[in-house]
Amino acid sequence: MELKLFNTMGRQLSTFVPIREGKVGMYACGLTVYNYAHIGNLRSYVFEDIVRKALEYCGYQVRHVMNVTDVGHLTGDADEGEDKMVKSSRETGRTVWEIAEFYTKAFFRDFSLLRCSMPTVVCKATDHIQDMIDLISIIEAKGFTYSAGGNLYFDISRFPDYGKLALLDQQELRAGARVEVDQGKRNPFDFALWFTRSKFEHQVMLWDSPWGRGYPGWHIECSAMSMKYLGEHFDIHCGGIDHVPVHHTNEIAQSEAATGRTWVNYWMHGEFLLMGHDKMAKSAGNFLTLSSLTDKGYDPLDFRYFCLGAHYRTQLAFSFEGLDAARTSRQGLMERMAQIRGESSQTDEQPAGKALEYLNDFETHLADDLNMPRCLADLWTLLRDTEVPAAQKLAVALRMDSVFDLGLGHAKEEQLTLDDEAKALLEERRMARRAGNFKRSDEIRNILRGRGIEVQDSPQGQKVRFAAGQRMEKTVTSEDDRC
Ligand code: AMP
Ligand code: ZN
Repeated sequence: MELKLFNTMGRQLSTFVPIREGKVGMYACGLTVYNYAHIGNLRSYVFEDIVRKALEYCGYQVRHVMNVTDVGHLTGDADEGEDKMVKSSRETGRTVWEIAEFYTKAFFRDFSLLRCSMPTVVCKATDHIQDMIDLISIIEAKGFTYSAGGNLYFDISRFPDYGKLALLDQQELRAGARVEVDQGKRNPFDFALWFTRSKFEHQVMLWDSPWGRGYPGWHIECSAMSMKYLGEHFDIHCGGIDHVPVHHTNEIAQSEAATGRTWVNYWMHGEFLLMGHDKMAKSAGNFLTLSSLTDKGYDPLDFRYFCLGAHYRTQLAFSFEGLDAARTSRQGLMERMAQIRGESSQTDEQPAGKALEYLNDFETHLADDLNMPRCLADLWTLLRDTEVPAAQKLAVALRMDSVFDLGLGHAKEEQLTLDDEAKALLEERRMARRAGNFKRSDEIRNILRGRGIEVQDSPQGQKVRFAAGQRMEKTVTSEDDRC
């Protein structure tokens, strides 16, 4: 199966061809661990998880590397402001190291609650300072840097392709159209590779380096760690769309300056989760965390389903109505899966006929730049089709779920709940029996049977059993009915 992916570099869909047959090297920019991840950040990690699972579905062995930024990311991406970790430390009275450890753990907890697969390598910036120093030394030796005010900067005028990812206007770049407060820079688009005390007095994470005691600029960590774990040339680099104009643009400049060759083949970017019309962002204060959703009773997978409902390259506005709809759909999926399991304890691994057609549709939509909304629609059509045998449905749905990862394989009787209509019918039946209207009571029993719900009367009230088969047995009793 050939995947067509949208490459931000060049802005076009192209067939994915790996550098090494059967293997994919993939790097994803990780979180800056100065606070909890917000659900906007998490949308990006769900998107990257889908990229990975789609590649695995196609049979590739994926080496997935993710950094953890625990130093050097300033409140502005382009060297303005102060270090986010230092700011958080000052505000909370905890050390930067405590903050990094606490929020890294919290992040990976959210990550696994969302069923995102752990990266093959998770690398912390502060564990790789020497790798960064080595890389900066190469960039310096090749003449791409200058020192000013104690900091070492990357000189974009030495790298003619600067801005090719973000399609930055060459004239504006030369004119330095960005507003810059750092007087040390020759061009506002130049960026720091290494900061020294000359700029930030309150930095507590400091290392010795050939340029003085200080700390690395934010961008260099991704170049150094990706090359360490994936080599100088690898397949896919992902992140949120905000990283295109500054972070990834700078990563490319310094990496390709160091190696003199193409660094990454495919650049994939996920669009924003919005709050109203604005990007969800900690700095704007308009953010929600995953635990704020689970505190309200949502399952983390409701949010995963919500994310899959929009293509990764379209903006997605968060709303609780939208999340409620995702929850209802996801629960509906789980119930159908549980029902199908009750009808067949086996999976038929060789889909044929209509089941195979649905699987082919799914693969077509997956191959079309990971079109998750269409893929989900394929899953629903499969599950609703009464002509497809249960064993085939089960096998195909589980295959699809190896990409969605909504935990469909875990659907079991606990997932079965009565929908509002079934509840209303049961209530009507209870009242009918109380009034001695057994004709209506039997009618309702038949209606419910037609919907896969068996009703029995017991001294405790009406007992409900779902679908056929012993494995599905679950009883729901309407309590105040004594008959
Ligand atoms: P950061 O910690 O700022 O480096 O962000 C971590 C990841 O979240 C990056 O890939 C960002 O591009 C991404 N991100 C930040 N805000 C949003 C948002 N509102 N929607 C989607 N992704 C986001
Ligand atoms: Zn990065």
